[in-house]
Amino acid sequence: MERRTFLASLSAAAAVASRVPLKATEGPDSGRITLLHTNDTHSRIEPFGPGNGAISGKGGMARRATLVKQLRGQLGSILLLDAGDTFQGTPYFNRYKGRLDYQLMRMIGYDATTLGNHDFDNGVGMLVEAIESMEQLKHRNPPFAFLNCNFDCKGAPALAKRVRPYLVRDFPGVRVGITGVGVAFAGLVASKNHEGISWNDPYESLKPVVKRLREVEKVDLVVVLSHLGYDNKDGAPDDLRMPGQVAGIDAIIGGHSHTFLDAPVKVKQAQGETLVFQVGFGGVNLGRMDFALARGEVKAASGAAMPVVG
Ligand SMILES: [Zn+2]
Repeated sequence: MERRTFLASLSAAAAVASRVPLKATEGPDSGRITLLHTNDTHSRIEPFGPGNGAISGKGGMARRATLVKQLRGQLGSILLLDAGDTFQGTPYFNRYKGRLDYQLMRMIGYDATTLGNHDFDNGVGMLVEAIESMEQLKHRNPPFAFLNCNFDCKGAPALAKRVRPYLVRDFPGVRVGITGVGVAFAGLVASKNHEGISWNDPYESLKPVVKRLREVEKVDLVVVLSHLGYDNKDGAPDDLRMPGQVAGIDAIIGGHSHTFLDAPVKVKQAQGETLVFQVGFGGVNLGRMDFALARGEVKAASGAAMPVVG
């Protein structure tokens, strides 16, 4: 990378970091965690070209990799997450069937993603092939996880063994539980493309998983990767209503509606507050949410969208 470009992206990262004030609650039983996230990246391997309005020249997986690397250098504990719809949108998808997207995500160091409707566009078999190609890649980063708790994949064993309901990760002073939910197939995914997989209500599926994460796995922070949409006018389950329906979620990383938010929205719920965030689509922005915890409780939370620019 050119030095000039590198410095420009560094200063962009610093500018955003300074907009994310977070009082440190240091101590032996305290911790901090930063969630970095994308959604609906839709095979946008390269930055958007000119003629794309406000997003012209933004995005690109190489730049995203650079930004994530810089943040890893500046911050302590990080999770890199995605809310689904990695597939479909450019000739890269037509040529590589999602294998390239997943392989690059592993190289950037993603920890987990969930499945969006477009990830089924070539059927379950091709989705599994893309996951396998990511798993088989020779790279120092481990394969990332596929999280979903509302698809019943029993009739599609090759996918079932790769999709798990949740993931628990330990960091100094913070134990994090992550799960995922997907949108209904009806009207979005042809039945032959989700053969063997049935859809269950996301709120009802989340309740026992969040309870298990809290009570059995003893996590301090619960994160949901949601490919449901931000604010569904038709009454279908969505991110804004989720905190009122499922208690105990600290962060919702949303997708599907391609909603550009500058910062997470705080939604009150029975056990405090849930941060609901989504960063548009196409990898134009990288989302960031920071949590400071003490004795297993969230003491401060904030976040911002960071533009992915050269
Ligand atoms: Zn979608």
